[in-house]
Amino acid sequence: MSLQNQTISFLERKDYCSFIDGTYLDKSNNQTIALHNPSDGEIFAQFECANSDQVDQAVLSSARAFKSDPWAKISPAQREAILHKLADSLEKELQVLAELIALENGKLIAQAQSEIKGAIATFRYYAGWCTKLDGETLDISLKQKPGKQNFAFTRREPVGVVAAIVPWNFPISIASWKLAPALAAGCTVVLKPSEQTPLSSLYMAELFVRVGLPKGVLNVVIGDGQTGAALTQHSGINKITFTGSTEVGKIIGKAAMENLTDLSLELGGKSPAIVFADANIKEAANGIALGIYRNSGQVCVAGSRAYVEASIMDTFVASLKSEVDKMKISDAFDPDAGLGPLSSEAHLNKVDSYITKSQEEGASLIFGGKRLEKDGYYIQATALAINSNNNCAATDEIFGPVLVIIPFNSTEEAINLANDTRYGLSSTVWTNDINKAMECVDRLEAGWVFVNGPARSDPHFPIGGYKQSGIGKELGKVGIYTYTKIKSVNIIY
Ligand code: NDP
Repeated sequence: MSLQNQTISFLERKDYCSFIDGTYLDKSNNQTIALHNPSDGEIFAQFECANSDQVDQAVLSSARAFKSDPWAKISPAQREAILHKLADSLEKELQVLAELIALENGKLIAQAQSEIKGAIATFRYYAGWCTKLDGETLDISLKQKPGKQNFAFTRREPVGVVAAIVPWNFPISIASWKLAPALAAGCTVVLKPSEQTPLSSLYMAELFVRVGLPKGVLNVVIGDGQTGAALTQHSGINKITFTGSTEVGKIIGKAAMENLTDLSLELGGKSPAIVFADANIKEAANGIALGIYRNSGQVCVAGSRAYVEASIMDTFVASLKSEVDKMKISDAFDPDAGLGPLSSEAHLNKVDSYITKSQEEGASLIFGGKRLEKDGYYIQATALAINSNNNCAATDEIFGPVLVIIPFNSTEEAINLANDTRYGLSSTVWTNDINKAMECVDRLEAGWVFVNGPARSDPHFPIGGYKQSGIGKELGKVGIYTYTKIKSVNIIY
């Protein structure tokens, strides 16, 4: 692998600390965490976890930046220009950021590049919103003394200091879903990346300050769950936006309620893909393979449960298998790879043990299921067959390249099976019958429904879970409103 010079010199530091007020903290004697390259398992860097005093320092810095010049006074048009500058800087350093993600996360380099492209699109999309955060004039009926009238209106104000906590699977694009709208609304942000992927966030923050983002507007605290917990418990935080597992989301929800902090949660999923007999089976198999095996299945909206009409089961499985046979398993920097490593050894063990447990519970292995006998965290693309949802592979979020396939015989049965879960993040439906498609759109309990295509994000397309997949929405118009609060004003004249 040949890396960009900027990547090499950033990696030469080897030791990293949090980035606060436009500069890196000095090393102290805090706990350190080693970073492993998932492609070969080697340690390539380490970092020091921020303790609660350092989290406090970051929050105070963001609070100061929120209230003072230059950030507090800049016009919406100036904020728009800054967001475009941030997008330009990501564009310029796309390859460096992609390389850092490939190294720390094991994501295939082409997928890492498209992750950065997605983040750029998100910054540009929200740049346009800076100048469009309107309030309303309201015709209210409050009685006034004779000769006096009401002039009532609402205005949108930034919520203040935002704590943004993100997972390791899309470290930069998920951060951009939070950062871009928060900055566009005029907020400041303390970002906490996952302990597995701190480097790309540090590099991005450094880059942003270099191109003119005022110091303290974006601080990055790095560390494990304890650093995240200190951040969410801090009374100086005005809004928490979290993406991660449902379990940690519940802990954060409780912490938020202690201080009555505003909260958005993007959580786990166990998303269904329904394939009707009238669908284009080849396209469905291709889309479902992409949906579950892209990024090695470490995708919140991955379609991990395929419900396939019984009459086409054999044809569908053969088509799926031929898609998977095209995927070369290799390291993150191999341009021909179709399936890369999982993010960590612990995660590989978890995915592997689910494949075993599912078979112990009665599933039969259709293909895959084996770890690779080589350094790094590799496992084959896997499909399991079961007859009902009564199996851990149908109920639990495995977050790996594991698809479970279940037959159905009627639309009613397919929808009931699809909805039989605590999650409700995404879903896909494959059919050429508009009536079946619309019945699924009406009845599926999920924040996303895609008909005849795999689930994919777009800056103008809100995402957010039903049921235990989350609270609130990201992206789109609603994705910026969540970083504003409404002030209602009545002037009596
Ligand atoms: P986790 O929930 O384990 O962690 C998410 C983030 O929270 C990490 O930065 C983590 O830090 C931090 N964290 C852990 N414990 C605490 C705590 N007590 N207080 C505050 N922060 C804490 O999720 P993963 O990183 O393992 O990511 C995978 C999960 O994310 C999956 O369930 C997936 O579905 C979900 N996800 C959801 C998406 C959506 O849009 N709905 C998108 C992508 C992923 P650290 O890593 O250092 O422990």
